[in-house]
Amino acid sequence: MLCDLDAFFASVEQLDRPEYQGKPLLVGGDPTGRGVVSTCSYEARKYGVRSAMPMKKALELCPHAVVLRGNMARYKEVSNQVRQIFESFTPDIEFISIDEAYLAVPKDSGYDKGKEIHQAVREKLHLPISVGISVNKLLAKIACELAKPNNVGTLWPEEVPEQLWPLSIRNLPGIGPVTEQKLERFGIKTVRDLANHPLDPLIRYLGDHVKTLHQYAHGIDNRELEMEHEAKSISEETTFPEDIFDPEYIFAVLQELSAGVGYRLRKGGISAKTITLKLRFQGFQTITRSKSLPETIFGDFEIYRTAKELFQNHCGTPPWRLIGIQASGFEHGTQLTLLTPTPAEAKEKEILVVKDQLRNKYGSEMIIQGKRLTKKPKGKSDL
Ligand SMILES: [Mg+2]
Repeated sequence: MLCDLDAFFASVEQLDRPEYQGKPLLVGGDPTGRGVVSTCSYEARKYGVRSAMPMKKALELCPHAVVLRGNMARYKEVSNQVRQIFESFTPDIEFISIDEAYLAVPKDSGYDKGKEIHQAVREKLHLPISVGISVNKLLAKIACELAKPNNVGTLWPEEVPEQLWPLSIRNLPGIGPVTEQKLERFGIKTVRDLANHPLDPLIRYLGDHVKTLHQYAHGIDNRELEMEHEAKSISEETTFPEDIFDPEYIFAVLQELSAGVGYRLRKGGISAKTITLKLRFQGFQTITRSKSLPETIFGDFEIYRTAKELFQNHCGTPPWRLIGIQASGFEHGTQLTLLTPTPAEAKEKEILVVKDQLRNKYGSEMIIQGKRLTKKPKGKSDL
C-alpha cells in the first residue's frame, strides 16, 4: 500500500493554527520573487492552484489565499509521528519522502490494514491521509491518487483497463516531460494508447526502458520495496568538528552510535553477526576493522562492547577525526535465545525495551547516554 498525507505542509499549518482551517493556504516561497508553491491546501486547489506553480501565479488565481513560508522542523516532527504509526503496523516500509511511504502487509489484509492506518492517523494526529492498496507499487500509487483526498482505495489488476487506461501517461512512474513528448509523436497520450501500441517501434525510438513503461501501462510492476531490514548492513558514524585525543570521549560516542545501530536492528527485527569499526585519523587515513561473533547480537551494550574492543585493539595514534559502527551478517529475529538469562542480562533487556519505547515516542535525539552529556572533548593541552 502507498500511504500519502494530503497537502501535508498545509494540513500541518491548519492543524497548528485552527484559524486557517477551511481557508485557501499556500506554503512556499516568496510571492514577490521567484518563489513557487510547495504545498497548497485543498481549498486553494479549487482555484486551480497546484504545487510547483509560481507563487505569483497562484496568488493571481486565488488572491485571498494565506501565504506561509513553512516550518520544516515542525513538518519533520509530525513526519516522525506518522512514521511511528506506520511502524506500528509493519516493519516492511519504504519511506519515499517526508509524507509518503510504501508499506508491505500480508496478502488479503491490505484493505483492512489500510483502513486502520487511515483511522490511526486521523485519530492520533488529526491529519488527512490517503491510502492506496494493490498488488504492486504502481497500482497502489494510482489507487492512492484516485482515492485522494482523505480516503482509502484499491485498484486491482482486473480494473486496469477501466481505471488506469483513461489516465494521462504522466501518471506512470518514469514518464517526465521529455518521454511524454517522445510518446506523443506516436499519438500516445493516455495509458490506454501506450498499452495498445506495438512495442518494437517504441523501443527503436525511445530505447529499452520503454519496455518497463509498457508493462506499467498493463499494470505490471516488479519493483520491490527498498527496506532498511533488507539492507546488507546498518551503520552510524560521527565526524568530529575538531581533532579528538581523548579515548573516553570516543567511548561515549561509541555508546551513542551503538544505541543507534541497536535500535535500528531491533526495529527491523534482525540481529547481526559482525560488527565493524570505522576510524579516521588526521590526514584522512581511514581504517575499518571487523569482528565476527559466535552468536548474533542486537543489544546496545553488546554492540558497544565489541566496538570498544575493536577500538582498543586498533586505535593507533590520536587524534581521531571520525568514528563509525557498522553491523552486518544479519539474521532474522531478536529474541533472546538464552534460556535462563542472568539477572544482569534480564535487566539489560528490560532497559532496551524502555529505551526503544522512549525513542519511538520522542525520537532518537532524546535518548543520549548520560556519559555523553557530561563529557566534553579534551584538546591536546589536556594530555
Ligand atoms: Mg502527500
